[in-house]
Amino acid sequence: MASVKKDTTIKEYQHFIKEVYGLPNDRYFSVEDMLTHVERFMMRGLKGIRKSNARKTKINLLIALSWFMSMMNHLHIDIEDKTWKRFPYLCSYCASCPCVCREKGVEVRQKVFINEKKRPNTFEEFQRMLNEIYPANKRTLEHAGIHLAEEMGEFAESILAFKGAHRDEDFDKIELEAADLVSCFSGVFNSLGVNIAEELSFIFADNCHVCKKAPCACNFRNITAFES
Ligand SMILES: [Zn+2]
Ligand SMILES: [Zn+2]
Repeated sequence: MASVKKDTTIKEYQHFIKEVYGLPNDRYFSVEDMLTHVERFMMRGLKGIRKSNARKTKINLLIALSWFMSMMNHLHIDIEDKTWKRFPYLCSYCASCPCVCREKGVEVRQKVFINEKKRPNTFEEFQRMLNEIYPANKRTLEHAGIHLAEEMGEFAESILAFKGAHRDEDFDKIELEAADLVSCFSGVFNSLGVNIAEELSFIFADNCHVCKKAPCACNFRNITAFES
């Protein structure tokens, strides 16, 4: 039985997704298909914000995040590592914690120095670190949602660019945009006061959250029609 524990690392969660969904993903879905699933569940999550339905936002963003992990597996990106390198207890733009981009009107990307001693271990610690860099109490939930949508667009652009020309520099861009997206997923969950790892441990206590098998044995039609 595969499961996600409350004290999971991001790496372990990514591995869980590979174990449970790697087979159906390889068989049924291209990276563009998976991108569409990330987007559709994310948009359902954003609808939850508009409707003040935190439950709807939470479950749909957890599913969007899991499709995103499937993409990371497909592209062989170690997203925990990329997230740390992009946000080493510092804002990736102003290189401060908490971020002072807005207060100081920072317009030039600052050099970020990585102190490995500060690296979080668990997913929960990463989420907490991101809340220290970008405190939820300094913005609204709607603002966090808009930022997530914006980063989703940039991530999609990076995928399309790479798929168009297969240039290595475009792949590097995917890694950066993917890390930004993790930060924005965390942002919405932090605004909701939801512990991502804990919620994942509830829905992924026992293999696939729908069919309860590993590898997932949901059929293609049910996966593409799935709604929450
Ligand atoms: Zn900043
Ligand atoms: Zn399944």
